Amino acid sequence: MCGIVGVYGHPEAANITYLGLHALQHRGQEAAGIVTSDGDRFHQVKRVGLVGDAFSRGALAELPGHLSIGHVRYSTSGDSSLRNAQPFAVEYAHGSVAVAHNGNLVNAAELRRKLEIDGSIFQSTTDSEVIVHLLARAREPDIETRIVNALRSVDGAYSLVFLAESKLIAVRDPNGFRPLLLGRLRDSFIFASETCAFDLIEAEFIREVEPGEVVVVDSKGLRSFKPWPEASRRFCVFEHVYFARPDSHIDGRSVYRVRELLGRKLAEEHPVDADVVIPVPDSGTPAAIGYARQSGIPYDFGLIRSHYIGRTFIEPQQSIRHFGVKLKLNAVKEVLHGKRVIIVDDSIVRGTTSRKIVKMIRAAGAREVHVRISSPPTTHPCYYGIDTPTRSELIASSHSPEEIARYVTCDSLAYLSRDGMMKAVSLCGAPEIGKALPGAHYCDACFTGNYPIEFKPGTISSLKRIVN
Ligand code: AMP
Repeated sequence: MCGIVGVYGHPEAANITYLGLHALQHRGQEAAGIVTSDGDRFHQVKRVGLVGDAFSRGALAELPGHLSIGHVRYSTSGDSSLRNAQPFAVEYAHGSVAVAHNGNLVNAAELRRKLEIDGSIFQSTTDSEVIVHLLARAREPDIETRIVNALRSVDGAYSLVFLAESKLIAVRDPNGFRPLLLGRLRDSFIFASETCAFDLIEAEFIREVEPGEVVVVDSKGLRSFKPWPEASRRFCVFEHVYFARPDSHIDGRSVYRVRELLGRKLAEEHPVDADVVIPVPDSGTPAAIGYARQSGIPYDFGLIRSHYIGRTFIEPQQSIRHFGVKLKLNAVKEVLHGKRVIIVDDSIVRGTTSRKIVKMIRAAGAREVHVRISSPPTTHPCYYGIDTPTRSELIASSHSPEEIARYVTCDSLAYLSRDGMMKAVSLCGAPEIGKALPGAHYCDACFTGNYPIEFKPGTISSLKRIVN
C-alpha cells in the first residue's frame, strides 16, 4: 500500500503535493518523497517518516517547479529504508524521469533477475524500481509509448504517476486494483489515490483514472488512451473494508457509506443480545455505527485511541507491533463496567489485536465480550499491494471462527459473509459522486484465495523475501 499524488501546472506544485500526501498519510507512514520539475531540471526530497516530519519548510523551498509527484510509502516489497523511498527519479538517455507507484508487481523478482543479467544495477529492493529500468531500456521516441511498452512486461497491481521534464503521466493497470483519481484545481490537474486529498487542497474531483488507462498532461492539455486489451475490473474490496479513509470516495462509492452498510449487514447476519456496541477505533468505527443502528443497541466509545502513534500493524517488525496495541488503545471503564459488549472491527489478521482488546475490555469490567468483524475471514495473503503476512501467520487460514474465539478469549465471534460484504459494496454505488460502475467486479483474494493474476511460486510479490 502506498499513496500517490501528481500535480501539473501549479506554481506551488510541491506544496500542493505535500498537502495531498498529508491527506494520504494513512496509506503509508514509513517514508515520504516529492520530486518536482521546473521544466528543465528535477528536484527531490525523500525522507523516512511521516509527511509532516519529512518536509520542513526549508525542504519544500528546495522543490521549485510547476510539476510534481509525491509518494507515501508502506512497504509491501523491499525493506523500509530510505533507499526504498519513492518517487524514484533517474537520468537516462532521454532525459529525466520519476515514478511513484501504488500496488505490487507479481513478476518483479523474475523481471529484476533478467534485467540484472542484462547489466542493470538496482539501487533499491522494491518492485517499483523494475519499472524505471524497463523504461530506461525502451527505445521509442516519446515517453508515453516508452511507458506503455515498459509496462507490457509487468504483471500485477499498479497505479502510477510519472514525471518527465514537462509532462505528467498517470497510469492504472488493466484490472484497476488500486485507486487513482483525477481532479482539478483551477488551471492545474491533480492525481491522487483518494478524494480526501482533493478535499484538503480544495480541488474538484473529476473522475477516476480508468483501469488500463494512460492519462497524459502536458502543454497541449490532457489526453488519454487505453493501450492494453480490456480486462475485467478487479478493484480491491479491502480498500473499502479497511484501507481507504472513510471520508474518501473511491470506486464510485463513499467509503463511509460502504463501511456503515457492512456494519448493518453484520448486525443482520450475526445479532447478539448486548448492552453496548463499541468500535475498535478508527478502522472499525463506521461499521460499529452501522451495527448499532441496525440492531438498535446503543453505540458508545469504549476504547480511546491515541492519535500520536502510527498505525501499529504498519510497523514492519512484529515486536514493535505487539507493543503498539497498548500504546494505541485504552478502555473506558465507565462505558464497559458490568456491560455485555459488542466490539466491532474491520478485520482480524494475526489475531493479536483482538486478543489484547478483549482482555482490555474484560479488565475494564465487561460481563460479556462479543467480537464482530465487518469482513469475511482473512485467509490468504495479498499479492497486489496490501501488506498481509504469509498464509501461515493469518489466523483464519488455519482456524475456524470458534477456534479464533477461544484464542481471543471472547464469548462469541462472527464474521460478515462474503455475500454480505459484496451486497454492501454493490448497494453503495452512487452515481452523483463519480461514474457509476455497473457490473463492477472486485478482487477479494484475501478472503477467497481467488487470485485474478497468477503468480509463480518463488517470484511472488516480495523482493523483501529474497533480500532478507
Ligand atoms: P491483528 O492483530 O494482526 O489481527 O491485526 C488486526 C488489526 O489490524 C485490525 O484492527 C485491522 O484494522 C488492522 N489491519 C488489517 N489489515 C491491515 C493491514 N494490511 N495493514 C494494517 N493494519 C491492518
